[in-house]
Amino acid sequence: MAFTFFNTLGRRRQPFEPLRAGKVGFYGCGPTVYNYAHIGNLRAYVFHDILVRSLRRAGYEVTHVMNITDVGHLSGDNDEGGDKMVKSAEERGKSVLEIADFYTGAFFNDTGRMNITRPTVVCKATEHIPEMIALIERIEKNGFTYFAGGNLYFDITKFPSYGELALLRIEDLKAGARTALDKNKRNPHDFVLWFTKSKFENQALIWESPWGRGYPGWHIECSAMSMKYLGEQFDIHSGGIDHIPIHHTNEIAQSEAATGKKPWVGCWLHNEFLVLDRDKMSKSTGDFLTLQSLVDAGCDPLDYRYFLLGGHYRSQLQFSWDSLSGARNARKSLTDRIRSLADKAPPAVLEYLSRGRAEIAAGPALERLEAFNRALQDDLSTPRAMAELWGLLRDGEAEPVEALAAAFDMDRALGLGLEAVLREDKPADDEALAREIEGLIAERAAAKKAKDFALADSIRQGLKERGIALEDGPGGTVWRRF
Ligand code: AMP
Ligand code: ZN
Repeated sequence: MAFTFFNTLGRRRQPFEPLRAGKVGFYGCGPTVYNYAHIGNLRAYVFHDILVRSLRRAGYEVTHVMNITDVGHLSGDNDEGGDKMVKSAEERGKSVLEIADFYTGAFFNDTGRMNITRPTVVCKATEHIPEMIALIERIEKNGFTYFAGGNLYFDITKFPSYGELALLRIEDLKAGARTALDKNKRNPHDFVLWFTKSKFENQALIWESPWGRGYPGWHIECSAMSMKYLGEQFDIHSGGIDHIPIHHTNEIAQSEAATGKKPWVGCWLHNEFLVLDRDKMSKSTGDFLTLQSLVDAGCDPLDYRYFLLGGHYRSQLQFSWDSLSGARNARKSLTDRIRSLADKAPPAVLEYLSRGRAEIAAGPALERLEAFNRALQDDLSTPRAMAELWGLLRDGEAEPVEALAAAFDMDRALGLGLEAVLREDKPADDEALAREIEGLIAERAAAKKAKDFALADSIRQGLKERGIALEDGPGGTVWRRF
């Protein structure tokens, strides 16, 4: 299955060709864990999930890496303001690590509830400081840095293709430069690789480094961690469009300055924003909607997932309660339709399910499935893919069993939990919850085995917040509501 993606680098559609046949290295920028993810953030992670699921379904072996930012992200992406983590910890009277653990747990609870596949590697910034220091040393050795006012800066004028991703021209940046608040910067677009003095006072987490005790700039974590797990060059990098002009632009400059290899990443994919009343949502103002607020209003997390799939990832999507309720009704019709198809051919359906994916014979179901595949191959057009799913279920042309087999195959990319609708008599919601909790129990066991007790605790804590207790016994871990 050949994919075509719209590459932000170069602003054109391109056939996707990974560096190594059949394998994809993908890095998606993860959350800054100083607060709950808002529903706009979750749009970014659903997009990553659709990408990964679609590639895997097409036969690629995908290594998906996601960072957890628990240090260094300042309130302004351009090195301005205080550290988001430190500010949140101060406001809540907790330590930075407590805040990070709590919101990391909350994040995975949200993504689990939305059926978002856990990345292959989840890496925390604070656990990769030596890798960041080693990378900064390479950048420094290659002559791209200067030291001023106690901080180490990246000098963008030493990197001629600076701003290529965002279509910024270095001459314009020099000429029209706005004044930087940080007077140590030679150019306002220079950025900090390592902080010591300038923001030092309230920083709870600091490390020894060749430039003095301090902490890393935000951008370096993504360069260091992606290269650690995916190699010095890899296939796909993504994030929301807000990351194009600063964060991803700086990631490219640092990475290519360190390795001398270009392009660092072959394909850049960016999701447009979810907007609420035409304003962008802001996690830092505290005035935003979380997944839990949708649940409290009676919506299933998969209703929100369904809503997101209705928009193409490169189009802005307007959130409203009305459209969410429309998605809710549509998903209910979808699951009703699946049940009624199953009622028409129960024994064969069960046989299909027990055999895993079934071969679908030439005919209307296969035609729909192929059109569905073409939609995803065409820059992940989920709206068109959803239309094919609906066509399949609605037009009644395919045999019920064939229609179901095709729908379940489609759902391996969409992640709407359609198979779970049939598997048991329990309502879909309970089934999804049980599956999610079992998944979290397995993750917690793996975290304990890897001695990542903070993660293990944050998973338990996250479940506790939702009224679910875990009990460890000789036969393993069981869960109950309390
Ligand atoms: P953060 O936790 O703030 O670093 O953001 C996590 C991800 O969410 C990033 O990829 C952002 O680009 C993305 N993002 C932030 N706001 C929105 C929004 N309103 N709609 C879609 N994606 C967003
Ligand atoms: Zn990043």
